[in-house]
Amino acid sequence: MVPDRSKLIFLADMESFYASVETSLNPAWRGKPVVVCGDPERRRGIVLAASKEAKAYGIKTGFLAGEYRRLCPEVILVKPRMHTYLQFSLRIMEIFRQFSDRVLPYSIDELFLDMTGCEKLFGPPQEMAREMIRRVWEETGIRCRIGIGENPLQAKMACDCFAKKSSEGIFALNHENYAFYTWPLPVSSLFGVGSRMESHFQRMAIRTIGHLARLPRESLRRRWGVNGEILWLNAHGIDYSTISPATASEEQKGVSHNMTLPRDYVKESEIKVVLLELCEEVCFRARALGKMGRTVSVYCRGADFRHSSGFLRQQRLPEPTAAAHQVYPWVLDLFFRHWDRKPLRALGIRLSSLTDCREVQLSLFDNREKTEALYRAMDLVRAKFGRTSLFRASSLTAGAQLFDRANKIGGHEA
Ligand SMILES: [Mg+2]
Repeated sequence: MVPDRSKLIFLADMESFYASVETSLNPAWRGKPVVVCGDPERRRGIVLAASKEAKAYGIKTGFLAGEYRRLCPEVILVKPRMHTYLQFSLRIMEIFRQFSDRVLPYSIDELFLDMTGCEKLFGPPQEMAREMIRRVWEETGIRCRIGIGENPLQAKMACDCFAKKSSEGIFALNHENYAFYTWPLPVSSLFGVGSRMESHFQRMAIRTIGHLARLPRESLRRRWGVNGEILWLNAHGIDYSTISPATASEEQKGVSHNMTLPRDYVKESEIKVVLLELCEEVCFRARALGKMGRTVSVYCRGADFRHSSGFLRQQRLPEPTAAAHQVYPWVLDLFFRHWDRKPLRALGIRLSSLTDCREVQLSLFDNREKTEALYRAMDLVRAKFGRTSLFRASSLTAGAQLFDRANKIGGHEA
């Protein structure tokens, strides 16, 4: 397959997102070390985000905040307010939507944009990026950085490896300069290389992205299958994925999210947590597309492969919504009415019969206290550890374990 080089893809990333939101809401903190952490009163709070000034003291995401009070007595510790961060995230997305209708949220503080063909409207790529950064700064007080590429991978690499380190916050990679800039970097900076792959590579004396790129594609495929091949493609700056908004057929199909569980689930309380997470995810995606749904479906598959069990059931909602706390009770009702109490291997939720909801987006977060607490906990976990992290929800109570994992999971550098 020949790579498509005609596309113009941006990845925008917000600097120290949670800490920047806090500083934006408390301007007196500007220029000071601000740390958002799980539990500021107790010494065991985990650092979720640190401002640039806090990072200068060596404060890192995932570490215990108490440790740093000694190093940096003037550090300002703040409790996370996840729904506020989500609101900022949606506001920022709205700003970017004024530049392109092809916006894909990647995490709470990162999004991809397809800017192909927008030069006539907004000028050359660097100028577009400057204008976006200015708008986000003026309207939210948050600094954003933009990576530019011919595909999502190049944009992501441009942002993570270069734009974040440059003073302007903009960097562009393309098929001509990709090797020049990225090949000298340590192999761990390549998108997709986790700590396990890194140690494999260390043993093979593959230290840089260039070392990896020069291996035969075939040998990586033989050794690690598709994953090996994808890493080889990444090392060459090749990525066949695209950024596309909801198409007409997707609108009919709706937004869905399925999860293969990390083990068999049979406890009601655990299943409820997964269903809530799925509701949150699906509603987040619907909101990101500016949509609400009128129908919700629940899917599950039993763990016993010899006796295939499971179901797919749907329910019409009283009114269109993209709010998880409104969808969740219907999902629970559907699920527990049909579940045969046998262990589960997979769960999924779909929101369909979609309609536009731009004008109500920000009013989705009302203050129902009961659901609010759950929201915050779930959003915290998901925003921090990504979509597949659900089973780590329990780690919120097990500090040591979370602490350990937070350092290993590199996905989201806040
Ligand atoms: Mg960020």
